[in-house]
Parts: sequence; C-alpha cells; structure tokens
Amino acid sequence: MSRLNIRHSGIGMTSQRTRARMIERLRAQGIVDEVVLGAMSAVPRHIFVEEIFANRAYDDVALPINFGQTISSPFSVARMSELLRAGSSPGKVLEIGSGCGYQTAVLAQFAREVYSIERVGPLLTRTRTRLRELRLNNIRLKHADGVMGLSESAPFDAIILTAAAAHVPPLLLEQLAIGGRMVLPKGNKEQFLCVIEHNAQGYTETIVEKAKFVPMVPGIWKR
Ligand code: SAH
Repeated sequence: MSRLNIRHSGIGMTSQRTRARMIERLRAQGIVDEVVLGAMSAVPRHIFVEEIFANRAYDDVALPINFGQTISSPFSVARMSELLRAGSSPGKVLEIGSGCGYQTAVLAQFAREVYSIERVGPLLTRTRTRLRELRLNNIRLKHADGVMGLSESAPFDAIILTAAAAHVPPLLLEQLAIGGRMVLPKGNKEQFLCVIEHNAQGYTETIVEKAKFVPMVPGIWKR
C-alpha cells in the first residue's frame, strides 16, 4: 500500500502508464524486489524533475536538478533500494544526498523513518516543499555535511549515500547499527557500488558492480 498523498501531484493515466513501463524495464534490467518495484510505481517521479524534463522523467537516465546535481536514474534508485532492503525493510534509514528527494520518497514507502541530509541549501528548500506536498510524514530533512552523519538519531538500520565517496566516512560506520547495512558508490574516477554489513564481529564489504554517481563534496553550501 502506498504511503503517498498524490492528490496534489497532477498525475493522470498517462504518467501511470509511463510508470508501469518503467517498472517493466526495471524488471528486465534484473530488479526483483517487489517491495521496491511497488514503491517506485507509487512515487510520481515526474514531479521531482524540472518541468522542462518532465517528459523524460521515466527514461532510464540521470537528469539535471540544478546546482550541478542530478536525479539518480531509475535503475540506480531501484538497485540501491534493493541492496538496502536485502529482503526486509529497515526501520530507521539515513540518506546522504537528498537532492530532489526522489530516492528519499521511495525509501519512505517501505522504511519506518527516513532521515536525509543535503549540503546544498536551496536544493533542500525545494525538496522540503515537494515532500511536504506528497504528505510523506516519516521523512526528516537536514541541511548539513553528510560525512558527519546524524549522531543524535543514530544508530541507523540502514545508511545510503547517493553521491560517491572516495573513502567510507568513519562517522557513518559508527552510526550503523549492528545488523545494519550501508549502500554506497565508492571511488573517484572508477566507482563501484558497495554494500557494508555491520555484525558483532565487525564490518564486511561486498563490491556489487560498477557505478557512476556525482562525487560527494565536503562542507555545506548556502547560496
Ligand atoms: N538521490 C538524489 C541524488 C542527488 S545527487 C536524487 O535522486 O535527487 C547527490 C546529492 O548529494 C546532491 O544533491 C549533492 O548536493 C549531495 N551531496 C554531495 N555531497 C554531500 C555531502 N557531503 N553531504 C550531503 N549531501 C551531499
């Protein structure tokens, strides 16, 4: 069942059909988690992109969202969500890099609570409005440098980075609950999607596949 209020979002049958085609393409690309596919068929992706790109919102591409950033492609969002869930929905999730909030809204469909940190202030302002309009009330947004994590709300069952880190930020590892998992694109020129699991013995890292994300940038940006 969807947690969205899409009264406001102006979707008609056209975008519902387009979204259904996106889901079929994701299946063909190897996404199998029905919970993730259900979440992505519920969230109206076109309202997360600028109006001039709305007709390409469901294509399998990353699109510009201003401030030099991009909305992650549907495949990236699906793959990361699937890796994060690994068969069961996390309670408390921390996302680094809210961007336009699309991945955040997808996470909010199956996680109990989503905390999301974004370094670019004006981007976050728009995202806050958009998510409020969708009446997703299990999301908390924060304007901060994500490498610090969010110690006051830690530990997290899952942590997801939507920008590539050269190294795993140590504070994020500390804020990952035992039994929790982190999904991140790691590397500089060459990036790989990695999963880090935290168990009583320590941390284990699995490299999943090649990735292409914008790099993480330190500090915050106001205007
Ligand atoms: N999931 C987002 C991805 C946006 S791209 C979407 O689909 O829209 C990555 C985002 O990470 C950008 O918005 C960028 O500003 C943000 N980011 C980069 N470095 C960061 C940092 N140190 N802390 C918080 N956010 C960061």
